[in-house]
Amino acid sequence: MVYPLSGSVSERVARTRQTIPASVRLIAVTKQVPVEAMREAYEAGIRDFGESRVQEAEGKQAQLQDLPDITWHLIGHLQANKAQKALQLFHWIHSVDNLKLAQRLDRLAEPFTQKPIICLQVKIRPDPAKYGWMAPELLADLAALNEYHHLAIQGLMMIPPLGLNAAQLLDAFQQTHTLATQIRDQNWSHIHIHELSMGMSEDYELAVQAGATMVRLGRILFGDRTL
Ligand SMILES: *Cc1c(COP(=O)(O)O)cnc(C)c1O
Repeated sequence: MVYPLSGSVSERVARTRQTIPASVRLIAVTKQVPVEAMREAYEAGIRDFGESRVQEAEGKQAQLQDLPDITWHLIGHLQANKAQKALQLFHWIHSVDNLKLAQRLDRLAEPFTQKPIICLQVKIRPDPAKYGWMAPELLADLAALNEYHHLAIQGLMMIPPLGLNAAQLLDAFQQTHTLATQIRDQNWSHIHIHELSMGMSEDYELAVQAGATMVRLGRILFGDRTL
């Protein structure tokens, strides 16, 4: 699908917001989006911004310092050597995609007074192009993750593979929901999965239908990215 720029950013925020239940958090994904458009989204009520790259977010945060009540979400793959920086810049890290990274974040977060909020990134179907745990691998790693007491592990994040039809997408979202319920039913002391970060511009309505609590929307708000 192509997202031409019809209407202003604020009109698109308002229009899109109406299609999402009030209880679902709308994260505006602003990779490659200039700060002027981010300000417009802010004026239209957006307080959650999602960025894929640590460095890009750092530059934008410096330019948006006058907007104090933004919640920043890291949604892109995090390299180990940027983990410290990511913890300084982001309130939420959705893209914790392996045990080693979780362990590193846990160690780095030890001195923090507020625990960083973490989502575990899963893939429901094997997809070499995507990071994340397959469900059985994640279930096997939960005991280890439960020891990472300096992290607030609160959600699952899922990105479906390209090329699925609507029924397959809905199924992938529902399986993510089922996996979250399964983990919750195990009553871990330090893992409390109550957020489902899933749904992008082309599929968020299906994700919401399957129980998403956070949708990550870029193009539907800001138009097509050039890169
Ligand atoms: C880019 C991106 C999005 C937003 O995708 P759109 O199709 O622009 O809505 C959501 N989640 C992740 C992880 C992304 O990288």
